[in-house]
Amino acid sequence: MCIFCKIVNKEIPNNTVAENENFLAFHDLYPKAPIHILIIPKKHVDCFQDASPETMAGLTTFAQEVARKVGVDNSGYRLITNNGEDGGQEVKHLHFHMLGGVKMPWDHTHEDNHKSL
Ligand code: AMP
Repeated sequence: MCIFCKIVNKEIPNNTVAENENFLAFHDLYPKAPIHILIIPKKHVDCFQDASPETMAGLTTFAQEVARKVGVDNSGYRLITNNGEDGGQEVKHLHFHMLGGVKMPWDHTHEDNHKSL
């Protein structure tokens, strides 16, 4: 069983922000922004590439609720998922990072961004 399934099953503790029947949001253990929340489906899905439209529809509404709950719905946030090896996905259970509480940097100039274009 993967680590996020163990969190869903309460075998590993987590700092819950919000949950409903199908989704769970909890604070990332190693935050990379003042607000860093992980949003996951309770049912195991490996990654975004395997996610169904139904899962994504529910996750969208849930993520918007989470943003309101932690007060970044107006100030803004970044919502990202790392998909697979090249995407840098470490935990193989679909999750979205909600990052906020600070103006997020975005490096448009990095030469690696242009190499394959
Ligand atoms: P990714 O690299 O996209 O797979 O992100 C995995 C994220 O899970 C990282 O930001 C980790 O800090 C976070 N993480 C790993 N284990 C836990 C845990 N037990 N509780 C909360 N966050 C975790």
